[in-house]
Parts: sequence; structure tokens; C-alpha cells
Amino acid sequence: MARYTGSVCRLCRREGAKLFLKGERCLSKKCAIERRAYAPGQHGQARVKVKEYGTQLREKQKVKRIYGVLEKQFRLMFAKADRKKGVTGENLLTALETRLDSVVLSGGLATSRAQARQLIRHNHIAVNGRRVNIPSFLVKKGDEIQVREKSRKADVIVAALDRAGEGQTPDWLSVDKGQFKVVVQDLPSRDQVRMPIQEQLIVELYSK
Ligand code: SF4
Repeated sequence: MARYTGSVCRLCRREGAKLFLKGERCLSKKCAIERRAYAPGQHGQARVKVKEYGTQLREKQKVKRIYGVLEKQFRLMFAKADRKKGVTGENLLTALETRLDSVVLSGGLATSRAQARQLIRHNHIAVNGRRVNIPSFLVKKGDEIQVREKSRKADVIVAALDRAGEGQTPDWLSVDKGQFKVVVQDLPSRDQVRMPIQEQLIVELYSK
């Protein structure tokens, strides 16, 4: 599976926004955006006039980076969202939010998306009682995502659940910390997606 292995803070600086890719560090003063709020590289501080295409492109890159999806997979997700009934942009966001790695993160079983992926890849997570080790697996309404019994003592999981604050879990998920379990109560609606995303710009970009 291809994945980005460079500096993730660099991605935030490129997009000029916090993408929350590093868990705790993103909320601290060490966050690179707090210290150097300009694009990386030699010309990062140069003034650049961004045109319509550039704005659309940056929005698409930003969303790919938030959810850790590479271009080919993102295009496939868009094509699937486009074929579905309803508003394409909203279908796309629903698909991104219901990826297993997104649910593990939103449910507080991990502190960052990278950690969520690692837990899934290393067989610590089960969906409806069956082990699933594919981060892009899409969950459905009613699915139960649970840390497997043998993994419940893992320090990273216990620490993540301890830190998971009340009120931070999206309404469409319910969390049972004692059972290390997250239940998908419903699929997320547009207004339940918390990241600042203008999905219409992505639809416009791919419709050219
Ligand atoms: Fe982005 Fe987090 Fe790095 Fe800040 S600390 S630049 S939010 S990944």
C-alpha cells in the first residue's frame, strides 16, 4: 500500500491550515503552523496570486491530506460518490468519514490518523466481531468497531481512550470506553463533518 512518508507538518504548512495529523502535538505550542505559518521551501514566504484552478486544487490536496488518501484512491472515491444518489460532495465526505481509520480516530481509540491506521494494520481492531486490517474499509450504520480482547491492555489505546474527552465524539458515533467499543449510530450528515472543507471546489475541479 502506497503512503506518504515525508513530514506531515510540512503538509499543514503547504495548505496554510492545521490538518491535525500529529495528535497531541497539534494542540501544543510545538505545532509548526503556530511557529512558521507560511508554506515550506525557499519561496514559501513569497506572495503568490492564487487563481480559481489553484484554489480548487489546494482544497482537493487539503482533503486528501486530512484523510491520508493518495490521488488514485481519492479519484476512485470521487467517482463512486458521483455515481451514488444525492449530492456528490456530501457523498464523498460521508465515504471519507466512514473509513475505518476515520472512525477509530473519531471514536477516540487513537490520537492521530497515523496511529489509527497502525492499530488497524496490526490487527488490533474488529468490526462486528471480525478482525479487519484494512484502514480504508467502509463502515455502515449499526456496525460495532471494537479493540480486540488481546489488545485492550496496549498502552497507546488505553492512553487514547483516557484522553478522549466527552463532547468530542461526533453525534453519529457512540463510545463505550469500558468495552473499548465504538458503534455507528448513523451515517454522518454534512453538518457533522467538523473539518473546514469546501467540497464543492473538489466537485468543480473534477468536473472540468
Ligand atoms: Fe499540522 Fe499537527 Fe504538525 Fe501542527 S503539529 S503542523 S496541526 S500536523
